[in-house]
Amino acid sequence: MASVAVYPGSFDPVTNGHVDIIERSSKVFNKVIVAVLHNRNKEPLFTVDERVQMLKESIEYIPNIEIDSFNGLLVDYVRHKQAKTIVRGLRAVTDFEYEMQAASINRKLDPELETFFMMTNNQYSYLSSSIVKEVAKYEADVGDLVPPPVPKYLYKKYGSSPSDR
Ligand code: ADP
Repeated sequence: MASVAVYPGSFDPVTNGHVDIIERSSKVFNKVIVAVLHNRNKEPLFTVDERVQMLKESIEYIPNIEIDSFNGLLVDYVRHKQAKTIVRGLRAVTDFEYEMQAASINRKLDPELETFFMMTNNQYSYLSSSIVKEVAKYEADVGDLVPPPVPKYLYKKYGSSPSDR
């Protein structure tokens, strides 16, 4: 049976840390669906369409990946996609508490689903979408933090770029 996993997240925007998890999980599962969350309590910088577009441009070289977006409960979406596994990345202990809670509630909602955690690559342990936005806002270079298609989206949003400094 083909193994299908869903990697959900805000991806606001996608970073090299996300790409690392996507590349690695694509070697574990037959197919990985990268799913952009329509929203929660966070106020995103990018629209869902922009986040999907950045992902498409960034990871189109990986063959067994699908990029999608969803609304509502994650477990319903995962079932709808006929997947059995949720992929999440862990950076530090600070991620652990939230992720444990989320995995526990998802198991309660659907005991058939498993959450699969991947430890961050050490070089990306400090990296988050929030840090990237902070750096871009002050016109500093984000070239090492995000995939090549992403900086232009960030600088356009903030109306500036490192060359303006
Ligand atoms: P969310 O709002 O769902 O946390 P994010 O886009 O911030 O969405 O993160 C999506 C997933 O990617 C989460 O499981 C998060 O822990 C993981 N992740 C984010 N940055 C990194 C990184 N640098 N290394 C490994 N995993 C990461």
